[in-house]
Amino acid sequence: MNAAPATLSIDRADERSWDVVVVGAGPAGSVAAGQCARSGARTLLIDKASFPRTKVCGGCLGHAAIGLLDQIGLGPCARRAEGFTYDRLHLACRGLHARLPVAPGIVVDRGAFDGALAHAAIDSGAMLLCGAVALDSRCEHDGEYRFVRVRANGHEHRIAARCVIAADGLAGRFMTASTEEPMTIRPASRIGAGTVVDSSAAYEPGVIHMAVGRGGYVGVVRVSERRLIVATSLDAARLRALGHPGALARLLLDSAGLPPINEIEHAKWKGTPGLTRRRRQVAARRLLAIGDTSGYIEPITGEGMTWAIASAIAVAPIAVQAAEWDIRLAARWRRDHARIVRARQWPCRLVRIALKSDLFCAAVVGVLGASPWVGRPLVSRISRPYSAFQ
Ligand SMILES: Cc1cc2nc3c(=O)[nH]c(=O)nc-3n(C[C@H](O)[C@H](O)[C@H](O)COP(=O)(O)OP(=O)(O)OC[C@H]3O[C@@H](n4cnc5c(N)ncnc54)[C@H](O)[C@@H]3O)c2cc1C
Repeated sequence: MNAAPATLSIDRADERSWDVVVVGAGPAGSVAAGQCARSGARTLLIDKASFPRTKVCGGCLGHAAIGLLDQIGLGPCARRAEGFTYDRLHLACRGLHARLPVAPGIVVDRGAFDGALAHAAIDSGAMLLCGAVALDSRCEHDGEYRFVRVRANGHEHRIAARCVIAADGLAGRFMTASTEEPMTIRPASRIGAGTVVDSSAAYEPGVIHMAVGRGGYVGVVRVSERRLIVATSLDAARLRALGHPGALARLLLDSAGLPPINEIEHAKWKGTPGLTRRRRQVAARRLLAIGDTSGYIEPITGEGMTWAIASAIAVAPIAVQAAEWDIRLAARWRRDHARIVRARQWPCRLVRIALKSDLFCAAVVGVLGASPWVGRPLVSRISRPYSAFQ
C-alpha cells in the first residue's frame, strides 16, 4: 500500500488563485490534475476523503485503461497496485456457464491505485487538498473566475480558479449544485454494493467471474492470494426485501452455480446510489465534467476507470486553455466527451439490458457456452484500445 500523498492546508489553498481546480481525486480527477500540472498550469486537486480511501468497485482495470496510462507514463501506478492480471470472463446464470477470452487487464486494489495516481499528480506539480468538501461553484468578476465554495475544518472557504474540473464521482453533487441541472437517473436503476474479503473460496485468479440472477449480478475477482473483491449491481426492491447485500449476493452466486463465499454475509459492505444516470450538459462556463460525474453506465470488464481516465486526458488541454475563456471550449468538450466516452458506451448499454432478465441472460449464456466465438466481437468492442486522441 502506498503512503498517503503529501497534502496542502486549506489556508494555503485559498490564499492564491489557481489556473485549474479539480474536485475529486479518483482516477479521473488525479489524472486530469497531473496532466494540467504537467502543462504548466497551477493546479489544485481537492478531495473530501483522506488517502488511502475505499471505493465500491470491481477493481478490474481494463486493457484500454492500461494503454492510456502507459501513453502518459503512469503505467507503473497500475502495476504497483497489487493485483493479478486477468484475461478471461466466466459468465454463470441458472447453472449454465460460458467462458470468454477478454483483452488482458489488471485487478487493482482501489485504495492503492487511487493513492498512486494522486501521488503521481503531486509529482507532476499539482497540489492536493484532502478532507475538504467542495460544495458548489459560481462564476464571478465578469466571468473571469469561478469560485469554488469549500468546507474544511468546520469553516467555509472560497477558492478562485480560471477553470474547474468536476470529477467527484457517481455520488458527487458538485456539478449539479454548480449548474442547477440535475442528473437524470433511470427509473428502477440498480444500486451498486461491494466488499473485499479474505477468502479461500474456489475462485481462480485471472478470471472475472460473473453470476447473474433474479435481482442483479455479482462480479468476483481474486486480487491477491488471500483476498477477493466482490462487486454487485442489485435490484433495490429485492435488496430491501432481503435487508443485506451479502444475503442477496449469496443467493445470486448460488442460483448461478458459482462457489459460495461464506465471508460475504458478515463482511462490511459499501453501497452507491442509483447506477444508471446521464448528465445532459458536461460543460458550463469555466466548468467541465469528467469521469462518473459526466454520466454512468454499469461497466462489464473494466470500462468505468477506462472512461474516467480517457476523459481526464482529453479534458486537460481544454482546461489549460480555459485561462482565456472562450465559449467554444465548452462546445469542444461536449463534442470530445460524446466521441471519447458516450460513443463507446453502447455495448455496455446492450449488456446491461440483457442482464436485467435472468431468463434472457440464461439463454445468452447457454449460446455463449456452446459457441464462445459469438460473443467475441462484442467483448473486443468493449475493451478496444484508445489510439492517441489529442
Ligand atoms: C459495483 C461497481 C463495480 C465497478 N467495477 C468496476 C470495474 O471492475 N472496473 C472499472 O473500470 N470500473 C468499475 N466501476 C466503475 C468505477 O468504479 C468508476 O467508473 C470510477 O471509479 C470513476 O472514477 P471517478 O474518478 O470518476 O470517480 P471516483 O473514483 O468515484 O472518485 C470521486 C472522488 O471524488 C471525491 N468527492 C466526492 N464528492 C466530493 C466533494 N463534494 N468534494 C471533494 N471531493 C469529493 C470522492 O471522495 C472520490 O475520491 C464499478 C462501479 C461500481 C459501482
